[in-house]
Amino acid sequence: MPDQLYIDGRWRPAADGGTIPVLNPATEEVIAHVAAGGAADVEQAVAAAKRAFESWRRTTGAERAAFLRAIAGRVRARRDELMRLSSLNNGKPLAEAAVDMDDVAAAFDYYADLARDLDGRQGAPVELPDESFRASVRFEPAGVAALIVPWNFPLVTTSWKVAPALAAGCTVVLKPSEITPLVELELGAMADEVGLPPGVLNIVVGTGPEVGAPLVAHEDVAKISFTGSNAVGEQVMIAAARDTKSISLELGGKSPILVFADSDLDHAVECIVAGIFYNCGQMCSATSRLLVEASIAEPLLERLVAAAEALPIGDPFDERTRMGPLTTAAQHRKVTAAIERGVGDGARLLTGGGRPEDLERGFFVQPTVFTDVAQDSALWREEVFGPVLAVRTFAGEDEAIALANDSDYGLVATVVTGDEERAARVAAALEVGHVWVNSPQVVFVQTSWGGFKRSGIGRELGPWGLQAFLEVKHVVGPARA
Ligand code: NAD
Repeated sequence: MPDQLYIDGRWRPAADGGTIPVLNPATEEVIAHVAAGGAADVEQAVAAAKRAFESWRRTTGAERAAFLRAIAGRVRARRDELMRLSSLNNGKPLAEAAVDMDDVAAAFDYYADLARDLDGRQGAPVELPDESFRASVRFEPAGVAALIVPWNFPLVTTSWKVAPALAAGCTVVLKPSEITPLVELELGAMADEVGLPPGVLNIVVGTGPEVGAPLVAHEDVAKISFTGSNAVGEQVMIAAARDTKSISLELGGKSPILVFADSDLDHAVECIVAGIFYNCGQMCSATSRLLVEASIAEPLLERLVAAAEALPIGDPFDERTRMGPLTTAAQHRKVTAAIERGVGDGARLLTGGGRPEDLERGFFVQPTVFTDVAQDSALWREEVFGPVLAVRTFAGEDEAIALANDSDYGLVATVVTGDEERAARVAAALEVGHVWVNSPQVVFVQTSWGGFKRSGIGRELGPWGLQAFLEVKHVVGPARA
């Protein structure tokens, strides 16, 4: 069903019959044509979600948990097929797609547990200072939720939204990225397989202007959860303001990795490489600014360049591959332009900077490292969303923290040090939503995801991810004898 939309429990083409070609970024070949939804499809999907909400909201948390657990089971059962589809459409190495599928299953299982817990929390008494009153608390689902996701971790980002939304008792209209919708459409197939009631999950593929914009503007949508660029996030915020809709925004980043002189250098290189070259650097959480203590800069950069140059790049389906292509031609142009601008602005290119010599086709770019990057340059301040690392040195902890915090963004940071007390001090001082100590890009569904400053509004994952889809209600009255 790649050329179909999933609306009200049925597969059907876009209302106007339009389609969008979807590519394999490693070969640039068209691998499918997907339905190009539009405003009429959004209308139908929201209407179906609104109808379904009336009964779905009355289900118990335990009933919803059973569906979520069944979806987790389907993801595990179809893991191999889903990871291949994800690699084919996104370009990520198979091993990374496998991690994605495990994360997806974990998210559905985790929110199944939280849905069950919710039953026990409904109507819980609230302690008051005045004994002549009594109060209790309830958690109500927000309503129809519009979930909009990008192309870099398609099914992972989706699961971080769909699982808590369904757990809360919301019904959903999901808008996948039109670039990587293949694996997302499989979620509709899995919803069918587990017997999810019609209208509880709807999937409308299409472009931002054709599907995303009418969806966020729809008056029957109560909650918007958006992951993507700052430019679109701002438009979503403006559209949501009109009806005072609740929003969660997960936006961009320009995250630092701080390496102190007391680090083990080989381990530091592993953290740096994983932080910028995983998923070809297409991560909101990429640690794309390396801050290294000046006294170890030379030996560290020597090892880093050797590691970058040894990274096997190529076919995502080859098990030796550690870095695949960028996901789109547009991203390839954007990353290439950022590299050229870095050179033009006077940064020193240590390695990479172009297309790997042996790869003529596909959106490939070499792992790239720049040093002597000016603090006011675009390369230091703006998100590249590719395998491009910018390096600066620091002298001492205070300068490292000031340099790390000098950013419009505040999503994540990694601290590499052999000193636990320093790690705790620096973690406390960093203006970011998530700090990794001596371990890069490790995500647990129990810990929150989201950032300070322009990196967004709200948090996904953990209990905060569920709370984002709930309204809190207190019932207060006189206490009776
Ligand atoms: P994007 O903003 O272009 O698109 C994201 C989604 O929004 C897509 O589904 C797109 O079709 C849709 N969209 C586009 N215009 C819209 C509109 N007017 N109204 C509603 N929806 C619209 O982002 P992208 O290029 O797909 O993804 C890359 C960006 O996402 C990067 O900036 C990255 O940092 C960010 N990102 C953030 C996180 C996070 O958790 N913070 C995770 C992944 C990606």
